[in-house]
Amino acid sequence: MKELSDYNKNVRIDLHIHSTASDGTLSPLEILNLAQSLNLGAISLTDHDTIDGTKEALAIGISPSLKFLTGVEISVHPPPSFSFSGSFHVLGYAINIDNSILNQTLAILQEARKDRNPRIIELLNRMGFELTLNEIQKEVGECQIGRPHIAKLMVKKGFVQSINEAFDKYLAKGEPAYVDKFRVGCDRAIEVILDAGGIPVLAHPFLLNIKNDTVLEALIISLKEIGLKGIEVYYPEHTQNLIARYTEIANRHGLLMTGGTDFHGSTKPGIKMGSGKGNLSIPYDLYEKLIASL
Ligand code: AMP
Ligand code: ZN
Ligand code: FE
Ligand code: FE
Repeated sequence: MKELSDYNKNVRIDLHIHSTASDGTLSPLEILNLAQSLNLGAISLTDHDTIDGTKEALAIGISPSLKFLTGVEISVHPPPSFSFSGSFHVLGYAINIDNSILNQTLAILQEARKDRNPRIIELLNRMGFELTLNEIQKEVGECQIGRPHIAKLMVKKGFVQSINEAFDKYLAKGEPAYVDKFRVGCDRAIEVILDAGGIPVLAHPFLLNIKNDTVLEALIISLKEIGLKGIEVYYPEHTQNLIARYTEIANRHGLLMTGGTDFHGSTKPGIKMGSGKGNLSIPYDLYEKLIASL
């Protein structure tokens, strides 16, 4: 047994990965192959508002040396008493992919995305940028279109130099081509994940853009009251200080800890699977504790 635990001590995991089912550029098969070549111990596909990539990976079959968690990342509204400008996302792990309420809820969110894209394109057209949804669909095939795909086409057409510039000048919240999309409340997302037998986790707390630690902790307490089970402590944007702070919050409130790189392939060129900007190292025992909680 000692040998096994020493082995596990050195194994790394990545529980936040996007595939071509949402706005990543690697297919589920390519992700499984890359994870194996990187010797990762466990991964999860957490596509935006869809489990199609997770389903595809399971259908392909996963090598016994790689642990695989079903996953999803849902964009949500804050509870009524909180207001902040950042990205509020709830991750769901170990969900039953055949759960009907989960599938129905995700189908509604997919529709909302479809409704939003033409409105973004129209705003860009009015600003003088000539691009169409058809052009993007041709590039991405069957995948779910999101803002990164629009940004990519803007780069390709020379309207902007980079995906970041497309977001900063046009597509990000508050910019002229931003269109809000229908979201579910965080309480609903948490309920749906729990109902599907899954573990709801607060994604990348740093990206919520809550400056005040007391407010962040109050939010986490409220979320725990409605069923939140964990916090994504390890994330490329989380400094050592933030990791320590989120670990402390998780321990104080009896919450699980997770971590992932938010790998998107070439949509986020600076982020590598398993290591983020190069120095992220997410221990295998987080995966073991997650599994043990089921
Ligand atoms: P959407 O699904 O259309 O809301 O787009 C969300 C995706 O856009 C996520 O993958 C984010 O990583 C990416 N994203 C959001 N804001 C920015 C930004 N300012 N710069 C680059 N990518 C961003
Ligand atoms: Zn994404
Ligand atoms: Fe996210
Ligand atoms: Fe993500």
